[in-house]
Amino acid sequence: MCDCGSGSSRAGGPYATGRELVEFVLAAHGGRVACSPLPTALEVCCQECGRDFVLQTFVQGCPSCGGVHAVSPPRANDPAAVQYAGADFGAAA
Ligand SMILES: [Zn+2]
Repeated sequence: MCDCGSGSSRAGGPYATGRELVEFVLAAHGGRVACSPLPTALEVCCQECGRDFVLQTFVQGCPSCGGVHAVSPPRANDPAAVQYAGADFGAAA
């Protein structure tokens, strides 16, 4: 059971967008969420280079350009909820 964000009053959280969302997921549960497998892998299109790839963990880099994408746990089944951190985001995914 995961209730990420349900008690959070911070700005952003699981419904933030772009880099803010990526950073939220990276920090969630001390970073344990970020490398956890998604309940259902999502087919996404890289928002940097346009390559299609399968997002298998909550935070993952594009296999082509390395652009970091993330989805928050409450929206893990929604490909449209995947957010892109931006080309200069330096997180190791
Ligand atoms: Zn890419």
